[in-house]
Amino acid sequence: METAGPIAPALPWQTLFEAALDAMLIVNSEGVLIEVNRAACALLELSRQALVGRRIADFLLPDTDLEDLWQGFVAAGQVRGEQQLRLACGVVKTVEFAATAHVYPNHHLAILRDISERKGIESERNALSHQLEQWVISSSEKLQRTEAALRLQQQRIDSILNSLECVVWSVHPTTLETIYVNAAVETIYGYPAEAFLSNPGLWFSCIHPEDEPLLMADIRAVMNDLRIDREYRIFRADGAQRWVRGQARLVRNAAGQPTRIDGTTTDISDRKQAELALKENQATQQLILNAIPDLMMRVNRDGYILNLISGGEITLYSPIQPYSHQSVYQGFPRDLADQRMHYVRLALDTGTPQRYEHALDLHGDLCYEESRVVPINDAEVLVIVRDITDRKQAEAIQADLNQKLQRVNAELNRLATVDGLTEIANRRSFDQALDLEWQRARRQQKSLSLVLCDIDYFKPYNDNYGHLAGDDCLRHVAQVLNTVVQRPGDLVARYGGEEFVLLLPDTTLEGAIGVIEKIQAAIAQRHLPHAYSEVARVITLSFGVVCHRPSVKEHSPRELVHRTDLALYQAKAQGRNCYVVGDRLG
Ligand code: GH3
Ligand code: MG
Ligand code: MG
Repeated sequence: METAGPIAPALPWQTLFEAALDAMLIVNSEGVLIEVNRAACALLELSRQALVGRRIADFLLPDTDLEDLWQGFVAAGQVRGEQQLRLACGVVKTVEFAATAHVYPNHHLAILRDISERKGIESERNALSHQLEQWVISSSEKLQRTEAALRLQQQRIDSILNSLECVVWSVHPTTLETIYVNAAVETIYGYPAEAFLSNPGLWFSCIHPEDEPLLMADIRAVMNDLRIDREYRIFRADGAQRWVRGQARLVRNAAGQPTRIDGTTTDISDRKQAELALKENQATQQLILNAIPDLMMRVNRDGYILNLISGGEITLYSPIQPYSHQSVYQGFPRDLADQRMHYVRLALDTGTPQRYEHALDLHGDLCYEESRVVPINDAEVLVIVRDITDRKQAEAIQADLNQKLQRVNAELNRLATVDGLTEIANRRSFDQALDLEWQRARRQQKSLSLVLCDIDYFKPYNDNYGHLAGDDCLRHVAQVLNTVVQRPGDLVARYGGEEFVLLLPDTTLEGAIGVIEKIQAAIAQRHLPHAYSEVARVITLSFGVVCHRPSVKEHSPRELVHRTDLALYQAKAQGRNCYVVGDRLG
């Protein structure tokens, strides 16, 4: 081996060989180890004795193509590279090597440096860097996924916000520039969202001038962290007016600085219109109610006036304050309140409307109220009170008039049926009674007796005693007839002039004759003087009597009257002061 350089000559190569930090091996052309230094023993973990004579191939991995390696080496004379060695103990070490061929004839030098540790660190570093790379990749993928999810979420939020009917907006707290507004703004305001984003003043130019001061006050309030909820009017781009409801709040960042005012604006025109219509309707209803003269109030079971629907024109009590929640016992007389509560409970218990009238003594004047109690639900009634004093007074006058009228009617009736002079039934009454009794007798197949009687020589009585005396006489005779004929159903009537008739239902001929005889006796007993009679010195009567049982075929009592009249005529003809039984009918 040629030594070179100025410091080398003094040192024998053996010393250098031994002192070298790298492992050095001398191999012959058969690949057998001829010499090894200390570093080589340490690398291969065998003593020099154990190593010398061993083949280099013993330390190579089985799949190493030594033949190729060796040929290349010998041909090139110099080779460098990395190789893996397997120690006798099985450990594999990676070495960096440099080999020089023919340092002596057929002797080659190989210098090996153990780079296992470095390789280990390298591979660890590679693994770490791979891990890092993987982590970066996965992190960036995750980031991408998160970003995509966020984008999707944003799209969803945008889609939701844009599908809302109300306007969702966000403005800068001081400049009031629009930060965000959703698509609904165009439906309500008629301007596209972009118009609001580019023109902060647009919001205000849409507000109804009358509502602007309120909105300005609201903005000041919202800056003091008050939540705003305001109904106001706006003008759309097309000039149409709309009612909207605006709600807003201030948003602050973590440091407490105001960052935005967020809010919503909802179109409430339809509701507002309905509300206005309802108010108008209620006002009209109230006008109508006010026009009703009745007192109307809602009363609960405990007797509290829940509200006064209409004060009416009622002047019976002190006025009730609307919504005063006063008891029916306040302002109303106790007995009236008791009665009212009785009907309130009755109406609630039965579920049916009640009505009552009540008389009140107001400072000596008698007044009346009429109340209706109508159940509204389980706990409340509507009480309608009307002052009916006028009606009651009119009714009282009417009742008085009716009574008088009844009396007059009764009198008229009496006059129509009673003979004015004798005060017994008149001819008209007799005709009616005769028809009735005729029908009854025909139905019941009973006898009906008819008696006609006439004062004898009454003309000379009148002529001599005077007409007034004649009237007195007629009254006396009537009285006698009335006294004698007393059976219920019997009728005594003045038939005309000084002629009387007796209608005796259910009376036989014998019975009728009995009645005639009683009359004759009673007249005789009265002893009414008649100096001008040719038959006696007193008033006498002549009688005609017929008893008949009407058959079903007979329809008129005319024949009965006629026969009786004939009988009377015969009595006159037979000398008067007697009775004649007329021929039977049929
Ligand atoms: P006779 O015995 O036949 O019945 O004779 P008479 O005179 O009673 O009969 P006549 O029919 O000729 O006379 C009836 C008289 O009765 C005529 C009239 O002067 C009298 N008369 C009839 N109605 C009334 C009356 O309401 N008052 C008075 N005072 N007289 C009357
Ligand atoms: Mg006569
Ligand atoms: Mg006569």
